[in-house]
Amino acid sequence: MASIGIIGDGPGGLSAALFLAKNGHQATVYGQDKTAMHFAYLHNYLGIPEITGTEFQKVARDQVISFGAVIVDEEVTAVSIGDAFAVSTASGEATFDYLILTEGKNPVVARSLNLEVDESGAIEVDRDSRSSMDRVYVVGRSARPERSQAIISAGAGAAAALDILASEAGKNVTDWDSPPAD
Ligand SMILES: Cc1cc2nc3c(=O)[nH]c(=O)nc-3n(C[C@H](O)[C@H](O)[C@H](O)COP(=O)(O)OP(=O)(O)OC[C@H]3O[C@@H](n4cnc5c(N)ncnc54)[C@H](O)[C@@H]3O)c2cc1C
Repeated sequence: MASIGIIGDGPGGLSAALFLAKNGHQATVYGQDKTAMHFAYLHNYLGIPEITGTEFQKVARDQVISFGAVIVDEEVTAVSIGDAFAVSTASGEATFDYLILTEGKNPVVARSLNLEVDESGAIEVDRDSRSSMDRVYVVGRSARPERSQAIISAGAGAAAALDILASEAGKNVTDWDSPPAD
């Protein structure tokens, strides 16, 4: 079982936590429910005809908790890099095997790690949301500040999670479920 520290509790962070916790990993999400989603009214999240951002967040938070993820109601103040990643908050420090940084429009922690950026200044990631630092992912609005949508952040969080699941399994992984037989 791997431990994953997820900094940010918007759609990107919660989606990553869902896939990781559902597949038996220890997913810890840091965030104080201050996402921009509380200003949104969604008509463009496929599969949900309409929902307030606040209601979406409530359902999503309950969903990830039901699969065993932990949401820590604290701000991350710093991250340090060693054999593991140490995440600091006002109440102490915790260490993780992987980091998913999904801080939204102001990615202070991600920037503190001096990750590579593109010509526009956005943090550079590949299609699995991998940053230039091994085992560090940057997801959602933090990586695409000018083209942010909830469903894209959720998809990026899922892609990062699948990449971690594949790294841990040593082979490609999908998280597919089928309906019960009857
Ligand atoms: C007025 C408005 C209307 C919108 N309408 C729509 C819409 O109709 N459809 C749509 O798809 N999108 C809409 N959006 C955009 C949508 O809100 C974003 O695309 C989405 O929230 C991005 O998700 P994210 O997970 O990348 O980041 P965010 O949702 O921004 O989540 C980041 C989270 O990380 C937390 N955080 C940051 N730093 C730290 C730290 N150091 N420690 C702990 N937590 C931290 C933040 O407080 C926040 O909760 C709207 C946005 C606004 C402002």
